[in-house]
Amino acid sequence: MVFRFSAGREIALDLREILRRVREENVTLIQEEVTVEFDNRQQTPLGFRWRGRHYEVLEPLLVRRTREGHLGYLVRTTGGIFNLVLVREREGACLCRSKWVLKYRVGEAPRPEARGPSAAAAAREGARPPAAVAPLPAVTAMVVPVELANVAHYHGHLCPELVVGYRAALIAREELGLTRQNAHRFFVLAENMSSAVDAVQYLTGCTVGNQNFCAYDQGKHVYYFAEAREGEEPWPALRVALVGELLCGACHEETARRMAAGEAAPEEVRAYRESVNRAVQALLEAPDEQLFRKTRVHLRRLPRPLPRDYGRCRGCGEVVAQAKAVPGDEGFWCQSCAAREV
Ligand SMILES: [Zn+2]
Ligand SMILES: [Zn+2]
Repeated sequence: MVFRFSAGREIALDLREILRRVREENVTLIQEEVTVEFDNRQQTPLGFRWRGRHYEVLEPLLVRRTREGHLGYLVRTTGGIFNLVLVREREGACLCRSKWVLKYRVGEAPRPEARGPSAAAAAREGARPPAAVAPLPAVTAMVVPVELANVAHYHGHLCPELVVGYRAALIAREELGLTRQNAHRFFVLAENMSSAVDAVQYLTGCTVGNQNFCAYDQGKHVYYFAEAREGEEPWPALRVALVGELLCGACHEETARRMAAGEAAPEEVRAYRESVNRAVQALLEAPDEQLFRKTRVHLRRLPRPLPRDYGRCRGCGEVVAQAKAVPGDEGFWCQSCAAREV
């Protein structure tokens, strides 16, 4: 699901009202395990079954981390607005079991004056009374498109540079039709190694692992998106360069360090988060033309992917790609062992 920025405001307004109801606990608590159809490619729930009825997801509204670190999805469905949480339970060292928990349904009408309507509603739904249920997850003020929230989940946090990569990838999608589905036909080159390259790889599907993404650090938010047509070199490419303002967290490096060490004061953390949110919001709202310079250029092929036949190094016995190894009298050596021999 792609949210266009022009539509963003309407969605955000609506969402604000929904979030207000969640904050005021104008919700019907459910807390039941359900089966969910999940679209792995788009990273969104498509629908779920609850009490013998199928609920189709019409619109994913928000993704966020719960206090416990699980992924929570707020979705508009054919039967109302629900909060679905993907709970991963650790079993032993690395075995994880996942289950979907339908946490609550957002109240359809504003809460009346008298206390307790949500308890009555919960009783009607047969759910546990609110008193027995853990407090609702904290609501973050930052409202971002679902796709960006997924990118932030992959990257680990939401930061301004991630948004730059997100916006650049959206331009490639708009102008070249580059999506995760047709990524194999494209090649992407980035002139930095910042958070942005995570967003570009995630959204375009052109990745280092797939050998159609390459980054060399020139410290510039410049991206080349090329259609890699066989035998038609040089490839026509779209060059996208950041020229707009990038309010960075550089001045907050000390705060970030103290936050990581658990030494930052609450006011300091709040100020830091607010400045990051402001920078993210500014980047989301700026029109393409204000943020980026777009040009059409040509791109030459980068070194072809190496054949992946592996063997064992004569020196250390570790597995190494033969094409990267140094041939010797008997067998071959990995680069480190070869360097030691000299
Ligand atoms: Zn980051
Ligand atoms: Zn070796």
